[in-house]
Amino acid sequence: MTFTLAIVGRPNVGKSTLFNRLVGKRLALVDDQPGVTRDLREGAARLGDLRFTVIDTAGLEDATDESLQGRMRKLTERAVDMADICLFLIDARAGVTPLDEALAEILRKRSAHVILAANKAEGAAADAGVNEAYALGLGEPIRLSAEHGEGLNDLYAQLMPLS
Ligand code: GDP
Ligand code: MG
Repeated sequence: MTFTLAIVGRPNVGKSTLFNRLVGKRLALVDDQPGVTRDLREGAARLGDLRFTVIDTAGLEDATDESLQGRMRKLTERAVDMADICLFLIDARAGVTPLDEALAEILRKRSAHVILAANKAEGAAADAGVNEAYALGLGEPIRLSAEHGEGLNDLYAQLMPLS
């Protein structure tokens, strides 16, 4: 059985970097499919022996501070409704922000399966941010580095029983 994973989180936490790593060059295969919008990018992902659909939430980079929270909420709710599992990314170097907390609240209420990951976790500079992530009430965070490809084995271990 396959599943759909939505990568959610505020702008700049590394969602697209992770999406690209999971999808590789296979994005081209799904790029022309209907239902792929500017705000939600869909790709065929591969992680070890797992094959699944991954959704990247985007299109918020140009939002002003005032419009960001509302748009983020709507987009996240759409992604959650399309997905079987949500991967919620925070930026371990920045720590937990008010926008992260707002998204965590949506996910706690709305999504059956949430995997929490502290991205940009390579190196000791990320330790404080990783520890802050426990307070989001979404369980133990995975330490991830989308850019360096670290922590993907831990992501695999969490996805495997859900697949
Ligand atoms: P998005 O807005 O959530 O899609 O974030 P992006 O994937 O566009 O990444 C935002 C910035 O964070 C880019 O400059 C990335 O190179 C950087 N970035 C992404 N993943 C990592 C990581 O694991 N470690 C570090 N240090 N930087 C990262
Ligand atoms: Mg992006």
